[in-house]
Order: sequence, then C-alpha cells, then structure tokens
Amino acid sequence: AKADGSGCLRFFAPESDSRMQQRRALESDLRRAWAARDFQLFFQPIVEMKTRRVSCLEALLRWHHPERGWVSPETFIPLAEEMGLIVPIGEWVLTEACAAAARWPGSLRVAVNLSPVQLAHIGLAEAIAAALRRTGLAANRLELEITETVMMKETPATLATLERLKGIGLRIAMDDFGAGYSSLRNLQRFPFDKVKIDRAFTAGLGTSQQSAAIVRAVTGMCQSLGMVSTAEGVETETQLAALAREGCSEVQGYLFSKPVPAAQVGALLARLDGL
Ligand code: C2E
Ligand code: CA
Ligand code: CA
Ligand code: CA
Repeated sequence: AKADGSGCLRFFAPESDSRMQQRRALESDLRRAWAARDFQLFFQPIVEMKTRRVSCLEALLRWHHPERGWVSPETFIPLAEEMGLIVPIGEWVLTEACAAAARWPGSLRVAVNLSPVQLAHIGLAEAIAAALRRTGLAANRLELEITETVMMKETPATLATLERLKGIGLRIAMDDFGAGYSSLRNLQRFPFDKVKIDRAFTAGLGTSQQSAAIVRAVTGMCQSLGMVSTAEGVETETQLAALAREGCSEVQGYLFSKPVPAAQVGALLARLDGL
C-alpha cells in the first residue's frame, strides 16, 4: 500500500487495476461466449508405438474471441473454474467429444480433460453416463485425463467417483505426470490405466541425460504396474527414437499433428495411418 497524496492509501498499483479490469472484461466475454456456445473442440491424435496407428484422440477446448483471437485454455479454464462455469462447459465438452468419437471408425477412443472442480462435483458420473447414452458411444471408448491437482483437492467422493467410472468401463489417465506434485502413492491409490509424461521431459530427450533417465524410470514403472505410458509434446524424430528406446507405449505431439477441428479428423487419420 502507498499514499497517493489524497490522504488515502492505494492498495493497488495502477497496473494491477487495469489488469483487474481486463480480467473482468474477459470474464464477461467468457460468460457471453458460453451463452452462445461459442466454443469448438479440436482433436489431437495419440499414436501407439507398437502398431504406429492412432489409438485415441485428445479433445482440446478452443475459444476464438472476436477481438483477441484464440484465447489459451490455460487462461480461460481457470477463469471458468472460478466463475462456476466449468461444470456446464465440461458437460458440453463431454457430450461434443463423445458425439465426435461416435462417428470415428472402429475402436478409436477419445480422451477428455477433467477439471478438479468437475471431479469434485456430485453430478459427474451422471453427466458422463448421459453423454454416453445420448451419443451411443461405448464407455470403453472414453478416456478421462486428470491432473495431480485432483489429488490435492481430493474430497472423500473423488476416489469413489473414479472407481465407479472405471466400473462402467472408462479409462483413467494421469495427465502431466512429473510436472507438479506427482507421487507414487497417488499412482497406487487411484485407479489409473495410463500415465501421460509431461512434455518437459520429452523436450529434454536427446540433450539431457536426466530427462532420458526419468522417462526410462516412468515407462519401466508403468510396465511393471500394467499401465500405458504416453509421452506428450513429441516434436522431433530424435525424441521419437529415444522414446522408442525407453519403451514408451504411446506418443503425442506436433511431430504427428497439431490439434485439428472435428471436420479434419478423417483426413488426418488417413494421412497418419498411411505412414
Ligand atoms: P494438456 O491436457 O496437457 O494438453 C496438452 C497441451 O499441449 C495442449 O495445449 C496441446 O495443444 C499442447 N501440445 C500438444 N502437442 C504439443 C507439442 O508437440 N508441443 C507443444 N509445445 N505443445 C503441444 P492446449 O490445447 O493449449 O491446452 C492447454 C491445457 O488446457 C491442457 O493441457 C489442459 O490442461 C487444458 N484444457 C484444454 N482443453 C480442456 C478441456 O476441455 N477441459 C479442461 N478441464 N481443460 C482443458
Ligand atoms: Ca490432457
Ligand atoms: Ca498433459
Ligand atoms: Ca498441461
């Protein structure tokens, strides 16, 4: 706080005032965008190492702001969480993702990111069941990605919800493994089918011995525990070769494709499965 000469104390510097105003503006734009369902889902393929075929596509939420252009989900998802919008937005994402996957060939799965707020919400299992019913997608074609923050904000119901979802056939992946407070204890306590290795480790492959050692340890652990290991952020052939050497089961990243709109998934699959 500092005196501003008027005898009052100012608790905010002018910069933070305007930052606050910007944030308010973004909040009201987000509310308006949600009311108009002004979002899109993009999909990014995940490739199985053994077969070199696409096994799954991750749904990633996109918001195109009329003046700002694309706003990163890293910016608007936390806002939606604080505004209480993430539950309805998340249900929309689930339904859209299941509807898209229901049109894909064969056994291709879709992965949906879940906010810790959604996971703590009482209606999650019902919302998922409704999305599957409405779209006709089999439960074993839906994968949920959750981060460690889920474990930190864990409520007594979290574990029960995950067990229940697994019980109806869904797969559960731990996202961003190694980026936060990953603990082996959480891997043991929660019913994960898959561990997604944070892209910071992938980025170090080829240059950092430590990254290679960590990736090797994680893939080895996944193998022993019967879990799939997926490396995120694969951008180069060098990284891909290192991941193959370290026994990683799946890869995802710009090397294969950036996330694309639903309408481009068919062409994308044709290109990737022709490689
Ligand atoms: P995430 O779940 O870790 O998603 C992976 C992010 O890495 C995506 O960013 C993706 O576009 C980006 N990515 C993929 N391959 C590469 C690569 O080779 N190099 C680099 N540098 N980046 C790559 P995006 O789409 O901006 O999403 C950011 C985060 O926002 C996601 O991280 C996820 O935590 C969150 N998010 C996105 N969509 C949703 C959603 O529908 N619901 C929730 N709750 N969160 C979402
Ligand atoms: Ca994810
Ligand atoms: Ca991730
Ligand atoms: Ca992330």
